[in-house]
Amino acid sequence: MIFFMDTHRDLSNYHTHCGLDDGHGTLEEIVQKALSKGFSSLGFSCHTPFIVDDGWHMRKEDFPYYIEEIHRLKGVYKDRIELYAGLEFDYLEETGELIGSEYRDMIDYSIASVHLMFHKKSKTYLSVDGPIDEFTTLLHDNFSNDITAFANHYYSLQEKMVIAHKFDILGHCDLIKKHNKEYIYFDPSTSWYQKAVNRFLKVAAKHHTRIEVNTGGMARGATKEVYPSPYMLSICRDLGIPVTLNSDAHESSQLDFFFSGADDLLVQKGYKSIDVLYHGFWQEVSIV
Ligand SMILES: [Zn+2]
Ligand SMILES: [Zn+2]
Repeated sequence: MIFFMDTHRDLSNYHTHCGLDDGHGTLEEIVQKALSKGFSSLGFSCHTPFIVDDGWHMRKEDFPYYIEEIHRLKGVYKDRIELYAGLEFDYLEETGELIGSEYRDMIDYSIASVHLMFHKKSKTYLSVDGPIDEFTTLLHDNFSNDITAFANHYYSLQEKMVIAHKFDILGHCDLIKKHNKEYIYFDPSTSWYQKAVNRFLKVAAKHHTRIEVNTGGMARGATKEVYPSPYMLSICRDLGIPVTLNSDAHESSQLDFFFSGADDLLVQKGYKSIDVLYHGFWQEVSIV
């Protein structure tokens, strides 16, 4: 069922980091910024506590405060904005685990993301979207500098994740392009890349995955376009994949970054609605 609103849809965002992980600001400062921007619904999604303290995941000892503070803010601001406690889970390829699943009962929704790959040589996890040397080390050591194998592996990890786990949103599903500025590593129009993308999106559709349109790469100057790339949104629409719109904000000024452009893009690609968390349930809201 699609909800139609009298005016342009209200603002919402479910991919929000803060000072407890690699973002900035307190939870309350972010709520106040959201209110000033006219948001009606906001979800927090700290990077889930991780096995090692790497500086970008939330520390395990901060988790109880995170949940308690969001609960407090829900009460304080209940007449003005809907607030939700979420987490951004990490998929670990060695074990097939979705790190953060153990907190599932304490949160309102989850984002599942593949940021990490297991670096065989050092037996540690390195990120595909963090410092460039982690990306190049993975490319060199795990894939003998074969970018085709690297990107294919990235999409196959996401396939494994959507097959094995339940979650509410798949995060930034073509994050592998983040370091591919000016197509320095690969041309996304080549058939091997298109094949990998198509195969992954078919699996995602089969498993009823909700994908986010994520403007965070643009907000931080890393990409010139949203995740997933516009041509992928056409495929998503054809496959009937539902989408939600998020900014992956690491500071509150980015909460609605490029939202009107993303709405226009979705309409242009044939989407008539997006999913929002409204009154505690995922619902479709018209964007046309
Ligand atoms: Zn992420
Ligand atoms: Zn994020």
